[in-house]
Amino acid sequence: MSHEWSAMSLRSVRRAIRAAALPAALLLNSTSLGAQQHAEPFAGHTYQPGIDVLDYDVTLELPDTGATIRGDVTVTARRMAGVNVLRLDLVRGLAVREVQLDGRTVSATREDDALRIPLEGAAGDSVQVRVHYDGVVRDGLIVRKDARGRWTWFGDNWPNRARQWLPTVDHPSDKATVSWTVRAPAGRTVVANGTLVGARRLGGRDAGRTETRWREAHPVPTYVMVIGAGPLVQVPIPGGECPDSAGAGCVRQSVYVLPENRDWMPGPFSAAPRIVALFERMVGPFPYEKLAHLQSETRFGGMENAGAIFYASDLFPSHRMSEGLIAHETAHQWFGDAVTEREWAHLWLSEGFATYFATLWTRESRGDSAWRAELAGIRRQVMTDSVVQVRPVLDTAQTNYLELLNANSYQKGGYVLAMLHRMLGDSAFFGGLRAYYAEHRDGNVLTDDLRRALERSSGRPLGQFFDQWLRRPGVAEPTIGWAYDASSASVSVLVVQDPARSYALPLIVEVTDAAGMTRRVEVAIPAAPRAELTLPGRFAARPVSIVFDPDLFLLARISRP
Ligand SMILES: [Zn+2]
Repeated sequence: MSHEWSAMSLRSVRRAIRAAALPAALLLNSTSLGAQQHAEPFAGHTYQPGIDVLDYDVTLELPDTGATIRGDVTVTARRMAGVNVLRLDLVRGLAVREVQLDGRTVSATREDDALRIPLEGAAGDSVQVRVHYDGVVRDGLIVRKDARGRWTWFGDNWPNRARQWLPTVDHPSDKATVSWTVRAPAGRTVVANGTLVGARRLGGRDAGRTETRWREAHPVPTYVMVIGAGPLVQVPIPGGECPDSAGAGCVRQSVYVLPENRDWMPGPFSAAPRIVALFERMVGPFPYEKLAHLQSETRFGGMENAGAIFYASDLFPSHRMSEGLIAHETAHQWFGDAVTEREWAHLWLSEGFATYFATLWTRESRGDSAWRAELAGIRRQVMTDSVVQVRPVLDTAQTNYLELLNANSYQKGGYVLAMLHRMLGDSAFFGGLRAYYAEHRDGNVLTDDLRRALERSSGRPLGQFFDQWLRRPGVAEPTIGWAYDASSASVSVLVVQDPARSYALPLIVEVTDAAGMTRRVEVAIPAAPRAELTLPGRFAARPVSIVFDPDLFLLARISRP
């Protein structure tokens, strides 16, 4: 079945899209669709097997005041033969007025927070389902009147809150392109994923309102599909204006803030073009059409919505916005948004990368010692965190996804990348990441996809490394002692580990002799309950001291016998 799907030609996809009669100006970008087909064999959808949403075409009416919205969403999906129901997540609190299948009204049934749409009448494997609905949104789209009495609307979907305001297959394994048509009171700037297609004033009974259209031509997960609407002013970022002379590679960037925060903008966002340039050099081209940074409402400090990062509103009046946060959310555009975890348990592929890449920005902007200090801080958090001790990073047992926003996904995941980087070196590490990004951009991944890419780039098997750090709780806890043998002028190291939890460790050993000279050697500790290793080199006299892991680099609590 996955075969049939991935072998489907691009021409037949284009035909399906044409048949779906999307407006010509909004025709799906065929290259990104091609990539989606390639990266996303049908069998990979675990959330709703046999269904693959290709596109959402969303029209939203935002009121002059309050949280009552009207929505009209057309979902274009492919289905496998024999799949006769499309289940769209949508909370019960929103009233569904009409559901159409390929232009004909059908009766859908409500079931908890979902809408079951029968597909029996549809011809072929491509369907278009249109849902008209309205009601008061209570979450997902955060509607708020600020202290100055201005109404604002900001999408905030992570992890599965798109269903609070949009009918979607609300799971990261089903990525799709999205078009937004947002009608809002005049004076509200509307920003969304993708390219600005147009904005106009409405007339007639809609006089005093505007319509703004955006189009995201790359498939993205529902948790980063958003709009923001408010009395925002757009501030250009020097280096992110992209005049025609800048060429195709320039990434257009700007900041949108409430007018009272304009005076200190772009502030820390001045670094954004250099942050994007650094990550492009390391990983590959920026994945989206533009990058907007918005003062917004989000329950998180920042939210990496594709091409439109939302930052918590209160960071702006207090001038607490930091380059570190900007770098973290920007790194997500590659890791999380473009290359998306297929299952929530693999969230570290998003948050661990954002954590580690933020440190790489620190290294670039503030130098090596600041970088090392940041990594040491991350390591301390991992070593002392209570969740790290009892649960693995790949935590398939956790069903409360908000609980996955923990030191395992962020700090330990980030630190695992730091250890990989040091172990493999720049060339194999970044070479592997570039291949991983190139292969899975606009698609979905599991942890093994990353492992395979790094194994190919480094020529080293990494199964043990990935298993011990990601599929097991805690950190390494070896007992390490040493002995000197004068007859052979050698130092041997004895390592004892819990047989059930032994780690393979690249261990740096710092040896100091009686003259105060130190030398560093590296030994490979095997994942075994007991190992005796001889340090490389000759030691003419008994060392006066030996320090294991002198930089405190490993996630290891080392005891002496
Ligand atoms: Zn993050």
